[in-house]
Amino acid sequence: MSDKFDVVVIGAGPAGYVAAIKAAQLGLSTACVEQWLDDKGKVRLGGTCLNVGCIPSKALLDSSQKYHEAVSDFSVHGISVGETTIDVPAMLERKDKIVDQLTGGVAGLFKHNGVTPVAGTGKVLAGAKVEVTDKDGNVQVLEADNVIIAAGSLPVNIPPAPVNGDTIVDSTGALEFQAIPERLGVIGAGVIGLELGSVWGRLGAEVVVLEALDDFLPMMDAQISKETAKILKKQGLDIRLGARVTASEVKDGKVLVSYSSADGEHSETFDKLIVAVGRRPRSEELFSTDSGLTLDERGFIFVNEFCETEAPHVYAVGDVVRGPMLAHKGSEEGVMVAERIAGKPAQLNYDCIPSVVYTHPEVAAVGKTEQQLKAEGVPYKSGTFPFVASGRALAANDSDGLVKLLAHEETDRILGCHIVGPSAADLVQQVVIAMEFGSSAEDLALTVFGHPTLSEAVHEAALAVDGHAIHIANRKKRK
Ligand code: FAD
Ligand code: AMP
Repeated sequence: MSDKFDVVVIGAGPAGYVAAIKAAQLGLSTACVEQWLDDKGKVRLGGTCLNVGCIPSKALLDSSQKYHEAVSDFSVHGISVGETTIDVPAMLERKDKIVDQLTGGVAGLFKHNGVTPVAGTGKVLAGAKVEVTDKDGNVQVLEADNVIIAAGSLPVNIPPAPVNGDTIVDSTGALEFQAIPERLGVIGAGVIGLELGSVWGRLGAEVVVLEALDDFLPMMDAQISKETAKILKKQGLDIRLGARVTASEVKDGKVLVSYSSADGEHSETFDKLIVAVGRRPRSEELFSTDSGLTLDERGFIFVNEFCETEAPHVYAVGDVVRGPMLAHKGSEEGVMVAERIAGKPAQLNYDCIPSVVYTHPEVAAVGKTEQQLKAEGVPYKSGTFPFVASGRALAANDSDGLVKLLAHEETDRILGCHIVGPSAADLVQQVVIAMEFGSSAEDLALTVFGHPTLSEAVHEAALAVDGHAIHIANRKKRK
C-alpha cells in the first residue's frame, strides 16, 4: 500500500464513508481509517449510524410497531390473530442481519470505488499527516494532501447514573435487551430516549421517561411538541418533565433512581435504566497539539461553513463538528468537502436540514419554528391540516397529528414545516425539496397531489396558509 494519498479520512461513519466514496468518485486517491473492529478483528465500517444508531434503532422500532399493531390495531380491521407473542432474540437477530448487510455494503462500495480501508486509530499530525495505530500497537504514518476528520460522537455519561452495561445502559445497550423489562426507566426525553422508550413500551414494558427540562421537545415547534406529548401520553408513555435524576443505586438486580422535581424528591425502581442524555463529540486524542486544530467551547472541532478547520488542508465533518447530530447532515458535509477538495464550488444549505423523531406517529421538521420566527421578528403566516381530516390516514386507522406550514407573510416563501403524524419523515421531505427550490406556499398549493395520499395533508396545509383549504374549515379569510 502506498502511504501517500490525495485524501485520508478518519472515521467510517456516514460522514466519513460518504466523504471517502465521493472523493474516490472524483478521481482522488483515498484512504479511510477506522478503529472499529468486529468479533473477528476485521475492520467494521458504517460508524454509529449503521452499527448502533439509526439503522438498528429503526429495525427495532419497525418490529415493535408491527407487534403493537397486531396486539392493539388489527381488531379494528376485523382481523383476529389469536395470542400474539414476541420472540425477542429473533427480533434482535433480524436487526443484526440488517446491520451486517449494510456495513458489508459499505465495504463493497469502498472496493467498487477504490477507497483503501485502513484498520486502526487515526491521529492528525502537523502538516496534514495521519498517524495510525493498529490494535497491536503498530504505528504507521499516512501522508495526505488533505485530511477529513469524521470521528463522530459518543453517548454522554452522567455521574448520577453510571452505565454498567447490564441494568444501566446507554443507547447501545438498549438495542440489546434480551428480554422485555417489566419496568423501564429512561433518562432524557430527547430523540434517542423517546425512540428507545417506544421500542420497549410497545412490547409491553411500563416506561417512565425522566426529563430535567420543563419543556417537551423544546427544539420543535411548540404546537407540534404539545400535540406529540399528548399522543405519546395517550399511548401510555409516562413522561415526567422537570424531573432531574440525582442518583441511582443497583440493588438485587434492580435500579433505584432518585430524582428531584418542583414538588420535591422522588424515587422509582426499574428493571432497566436507559441513559439517553445526549451525545458529545469524539474529539479527544484526535490531533497533536502542533497540528493547528482547535476545539470550540463545547469540544467540537472548530470549522467554518465549509467544514475547513484552522489547519490548512484539514477538514472536519459530521457529529464531531457543530450543528445537528444527524447522519444526513454529516454525509452532506462529507460530499461538500470532497467536492471542494476536487475544486468544485460546493456548499451546504444548513437552513434546509430535516430532522425526525421516529416515534409513532413520527415527528418531523424542517426550517424555522413559529417561535423562532416570532423571536427573529420575521412576519409569517401559517396553515395547518389535521390528519383526522385525511381520507388516507383514516383508511389506515392512523389519524393522530397534523401538518403545519409556515410561510413569509409578504413573499409567501416557505420558511418551515412541522409535522406529527403518519409517515411524517417522508412527508416533510416534500417540503424540504420545495424549500430547496425556493418555493412559495402557493407553489405547493398549485401542485397536483395524488388521491388518496397522506401527502394531501401537506397540500391542504399549503392551501390553508392563505385560507384556501378545501377539506377543513378555514380559520382565516380567503385572500
Ligand atoms: P459516527 O457515525 O459516530 O462515526 C464515526 C466513526 O469514526 C466511528 O466508526 C468511529 O469508530 C470512528 N472513529 C472515531 N475516532 C476515530 C479515530 N481516531 N480513528 C479511527 N476511527 C475513528 N441520525 C439520523 O440522522 N437519523 C436517525 O434516525 C438517527 N438515529 C439514531 C439512533 C441512535 C440510537 C443513535 C445513537 C444515533 C442516531 N442518529 C440518527 C445519529 C447518527 O447516528 C449520527 O449523527 C451519525 O452516526 C454521525 O455520523 P458521523 O460519521 O459523524 O459519526
Ligand atoms: P438529547 O440531547 O436530545 O438526546 O436529549 C437529552 C435530554 O436529557 C435533554 O433534554 C436533557 O435535558 C436531559 N437530561 C440531561 N441530564 C438529565 C438528568 N440528570 N435527569 C433528567 N434528564 C436529563
